[in-house]
Amino acid sequence: MEAVSEFALVKPASLDAVLEARKANPEAQLLGGGTDLVVNIRRGIVAPPVLIDMTGVAELRAIHADAGRLEIGASATLAEVAEHAGVLAHYPVVAQAAASIAGPTHRQMGTVGGNICLDTRCIFYNQSEWWRSANNHCLKTVGDMCHVAPKSRGVCFATYSGDLAPALMTLDAEVDVAHPKGRRTMPLKDLYIGHARHDGSGTGDGKHYLALKPGEFVVGVRAKGVSGLRSAYDKIRIRKSIEYPVAGVAVALRRDGDTLADLRVAITGTNPRPVLLDGTRALCGGKLDARVVKGLDDLVRDQIMSMKTTFTPGHYRRRVAGVLARRLAEKLFNN
Ligand SMILES: Cc1cc2nc3c(=O)[nH]c(=O)nc-3n(C[C@H](O)[C@H](O)[C@H](O)COP(=O)(O)OP(=O)(O)OC[C@H]3O[C@@H](n4cnc5c(N)ncnc54)[C@H](O)[C@@H]3O)c2cc1C
Ligand code: SF4
Repeated sequence: MEAVSEFALVKPASLDAVLEARKANPEAQLLGGGTDLVVNIRRGIVAPPVLIDMTGVAELRAIHADAGRLEIGASATLAEVAEHAGVLAHYPVVAQAAASIAGPTHRQMGTVGGNICLDTRCIFYNQSEWWRSANNHCLKTVGDMCHVAPKSRGVCFATYSGDLAPALMTLDAEVDVAHPKGRRTMPLKDLYIGHARHDGSGTGDGKHYLALKPGEFVVGVRAKGVSGLRSAYDKIRIRKSIEYPVAGVAVALRRDGDTLADLRVAITGTNPRPVLLDGTRALCGGKLDARVVKGLDDLVRDQIMSMKTTFTPGHYRRRVAGVLARRLAEKLFNN
């Protein structure tokens, strides 16, 4: 049994108090439900001296969902999102993604902010301290090489596995971020910078995967309703319950008569960021036929990584992502 490092717990009741607590404790880490962070503390992966519990801020727990707009506060729980009548009725992709995360007890505790900002994962990282130390650690902690890709030139390929982000990205969601001087809003897809490019052209990787600046934190997410948009989420996991995705796929599309009028596909569990596939809109304008299926498969092959950061081979995850995307698109189009 590993000893948990000592930490102090602060539970602010307002956003201003969160900002104050962050200013007073620059080394602090934010705590949502703790369902991932506390595991990482137990494994000695991180050892924050102070945890700032976000669940006491009432305004961060609100959920609004009707045909016109979706707004979810960072401290709403996954269970609240999965069971919300408005989310189920108008944004099924989000309700389905939330309902697929971990197990019922995790969903009671786990929050939207914690899921969106979930740490990236790797078989060489999500291990105990003695295991990692016996393997000389790796780039994501205190080591100097990547065991997945020893010639990675400083790039980490740890995988982003949160289920909510791809679902929200198919709705063109935005994320609200608070910082000491106010707030800013950005497209949710821009929160994720884990492009992991060997040539140094990308800004981030599996170690630096969020565009949050020091002192910033997520306040909530929102999206506009789109009339006629059909959406769904599905994932493959090793066990059928309580398990991160081998690959998770969100699809949203619009059908206009026999024509595929809009198509959005986002994938998690494969790259150091959730990937909103580029190029899907070029597949629209005709029937959902063999040309679209082939085009979708090509986009998945080109944009989905095949690094072996989990127990399943990377090329298997990529194939699974392609199959799920095709199945969901066909199901939504035909129903
Ligand atoms: C057995 C098991 C299975 C799991 N399966 C899945 C799964 O299938 N899918 C999945 O997506 N996840 C899974 N998880 C991970 C986790 O339970 C969920 O992702 C959960 O939503 C994390 O939310 P949390 O509130 O508990 O986050 P926490 O653990 O509290 O925090 C996670 C990270 O987010 C940061 N953070 C929290 N709130 C904010 C904020 N407002 N702004 C900025 N940063 C913030 C924290 O500092 C930390 O770095 C699993 C975990 C376990 C233990
Ligand atoms: S991808 Fe490489 S650097 Fe990143 S966590 Fe895995 S082994 Fe470590």
